[in-house]
Formats: sequence, C-alpha cells, structure tokens
Amino acid sequence: MKLTIFGTGYVGLVTGACLAEVGHDVLCVDVDEAKIAGLQQGEIPIYEPGLDVLVQRNHKLGRLDFTTDVRRGVEYATVQFIAVGTPPDEDGSADLQYLLTVAREIGRYMTGNRLVIDKSTVPVGTADKVRAAISAQLAERGLELPFDVVSNPEFLKEGAAIDDFMKPDRIVVGTENEQSRALMKKLYAPFNRSSDRMVYMDLRSAELTKYAANAMLATKISFMNEMANLAERLGADIEQVRRGIGSDPRIGYHFIYPGCGYGGSCFPKDVQALERTASEVGYDAPLLQAVERVNRKQKQKLYQRIEQYFAGDLAGKTFALWGLAFKPKTDDMREAPSRTLMEALWDAGACVRAYDPEAMEEARRIYGERDSLVLCSSAQEALSAADGLVICTEWSEFRAPDFRVILDRLSVPVIFDGRNLYDPELLSEQGIDYIAIGRSNWS
Ligand code: NAD
Repeated sequence: MKLTIFGTGYVGLVTGACLAEVGHDVLCVDVDEAKIAGLQQGEIPIYEPGLDVLVQRNHKLGRLDFTTDVRRGVEYATVQFIAVGTPPDEDGSADLQYLLTVAREIGRYMTGNRLVIDKSTVPVGTADKVRAAISAQLAERGLELPFDVVSNPEFLKEGAAIDDFMKPDRIVVGTENEQSRALMKKLYAPFNRSSDRMVYMDLRSAELTKYAANAMLATKISFMNEMANLAERLGADIEQVRRGIGSDPRIGYHFIYPGCGYGGSCFPKDVQALERTASEVGYDAPLLQAVERVNRKQKQKLYQRIEQYFAGDLAGKTFALWGLAFKPKTDDMREAPSRTLMEALWDAGACVRAYDPEAMEEARRIYGERDSLVLCSSAQEALSAADGLVICTEWSEFRAPDFRVILDRLSVPVIFDGRNLYDPELLSEQGIDYIAIGRSNWS
C-alpha cells in the first residue's frame, strides 16, 4: 500500500519506518525543512534505539521518502496518517492547530478518495473537526469527494518505540465505517499475524481510550509517589512496600516505581487535556486533578531535599546531575524532572555539571551556553568537585557505579537519588549520605 504520514516526530517517523519495513511505500511530510533535509541524508533527528537502521535501510530501498511538499503528500496516497504534535494550549487543552492545518491541506489538495487516520493524541470529538475542516475546503473548491476519518491512537513508548510498533499489545481503531475498518485491517495485517491485536470501536471511544491509558499510567505513578511521601513520614521503605504490593496479580509490578515525578511529552499534557475535556462537559474530575497536583509537587522534591540538606545555603554550590532525559533510552527532555531541578538550582545560585548518555545535544539546544550548566562527556567527569550527586534518570549505566570513585570525586559525599537505584545500607557502609524517594532516611 502507498501511505502518507504528516509529521516526522517520535510517532510519525517511527510509524513511517515500521510501515516501510513491512513493505508499504511511505512518504513522510513535515514542515520542518532542516529535519526533512537531514532525513534525506540519512540523519535521524531524534534518538530512538533501532530507528536509524530502519530509516536508512528503507530509504535506500526506495520504500521511505521525505518531503516538505504538502501537495505531493496529499496526492501520493489514498491513506493519509496525521501524526503531528498536539501540545498543551495555555489553558491545558490540546492545541489542535497543527492537526487542523493538515486536515485543511488534505481538503485543499485531495483529488480522489482519502482515508485520513488520526494518530495524534486528540480530545474526543476531534475526528468531527477534522471531517469538517476537510469538507469546508472541498466546498470551497466546489468539489464533493469521498473521504473518511478514523481514529488510530498510538501507544508506543519512547525508548522502545520500534518494538512497540512492530509487536503492539493492541491496535485500536475507531470507526463506524465497514470499508475503513477493512482497509485498516489490511494495512496492519503484517503486525497482526500471531494473534489478533485489532480492537475496533466507535470513534469517540477510540479517542478517549488513548487518554484513559495515559491517565491510568500517570495515576499509578502519582499513587506510588503519594505512598512514598507517606512512607517517609512513617519510617517505612517504599521499595519494600512496592515489592509487597506488586506480588498481588491484581496490582502487578509494572509502573509502580516511585520517583521524582513523571515527565515527557505525553503524561503531563494528556492528563491536563483530559481534565479540560472533563470540565467542558461539566465534570470536575477530582482524581485527575490530584494526579497532576501530586506530580507537580513530586518534581520539586529533589530540590527541596537538597535545600534542606544544605540548610538553604546553595549559592555558589555545584551539583553533579546524572540523567537529563525524562526517562532512559530517549533524548527527549520535554517536561523532564531534570529541568525542574536544574532551574530551581540555578534560581538558588547553584551550578550544575550534567551528564546524560543521549540528551546532551537536546540540553544544549534548550539551555544554550551558560556558566551555570557544564555539559560533561561522562558520568565520572560530572562528579568533579561537586557538592553532591543528583540522579534524575535511571539509565542502566548509573545502576552499578564505582562508589569509591564517587567518594573520591565529590566534595560532599551525598547522593540525592530520584530513582531509588541503590541499596541504602551499602551506601551508608561506604560513608555516603544517601537520600532517596520514600525511604525512611527522608523523615
Ligand atoms: P513531535 O513534536 O516529536 O513531532 C511532531 C512533528 O510534526 C514535528 O516534526 C513537526 O515539525 C511536525 N508538524 C507540525 N505541523 C505540521 C504540518 N502542518 N505538516 C506536517 N508536519 C507538521 O511529536 P510526537 O512526540 O511525535 O507526537 C505526535 C503526536 O503523537 C502527539 O499528539 C502525541 O501526543 C502523540 N503521541 C506521542 C507519543 C510519544 O511517545 N512521543 C506516543 C503516543 C502518542
């Protein structure tokens, strides 16, 4: 099949590469000229394990191409994916301007039947808006052409996106149209061979499913962070509590790690957007509000503990920071807890020596050159003469460091661990003050 994908970000590029890998002919369209020029040369604009190989191979084979030419994109294929960003608007609702621009362009240039597949995360009712935008353009052109809009939310996780796309837990398709349903089945057949992963439903339910999934995951994290905050005050250890509850299959071990708050491009914005949607239909959504409130507070936690440890005297101090990305195996720093921490430290007059295996370029892009941020080429280098080490991301390479090196290099032997990577007893034996999340030493 021939397919067009609008947006070559984390979702669009992975979708394009994976669909090309199974044999479809894919044209990716983006408004970012530098990104498209780079992709034409085989340069991958983001870090996502395995993505470079897929993109380069399929581009060479002629199954994956890139363009900024919107008209060419619309004319290229019957199937048009929309995978552009839906960032939060000022009031927290999803900003649909990019998505509706694409919809209008499809209406402006389409010459025959089109199936428009919405992969972006969008509020319930957006498919109707996409439909209206396309119809309005067709009316302006004095044309009546057949088209349909389906919802096909994406559930990939950054850092494991290729695997998630190639071996999905489920492929949600929202449509009430039999023909569109059949086309979606054909399109996804290569990913659906061992067992039937297709979950068909009506459009509005599919749109809500994506928000419900992210809100549930965010709720699990905020719940565990709330338990961690309680554990600190009660002299309990949240890590033991986590193992104790995870063994119940109704709860399970997945996604119950306490930490310094969730970040990324999805959970914060999607919980907020769902709250907005709720208020628009006159529902208060107290649980969603609490999930977000707990998270906002949790992201300040590491800073508060550092401030407490140094009795408020942070001016002129320097901290080593391990982990800038919002989670391991990505370079994405959108809403990352590291950013909340660094910005608070800078406000207090402290400096940061940071290291991340993949997000250094992104940090440079966001913060530019500044005296208060030294981007180091290794985890060890970040430690030099620092007044403590702070950990914001649980990259594998931080899991078993040589604590003697840490002791040697730090001026003050203290670790503030936002991901509970180490054994408190072991660190205490080494003579390191260890301040983690939800462990009794926080009280
Ligand atoms: P992104 O910001 O990485 O990429 C969006 C891309 O769209 C950019 O390259 C931008 O230049 C391009 N774009 C903007 N306007 C355009 C237009 N008119 N025509 C063509 N391209 C245009 O975004 P993302 O992280 O890939 O997310 C895309 C959508 O998928 C969002 O709705 C997001 O919530 C959802 N989603 C993201 C993830 C994730 O892990 N990142 C997972 C599931 C769903």
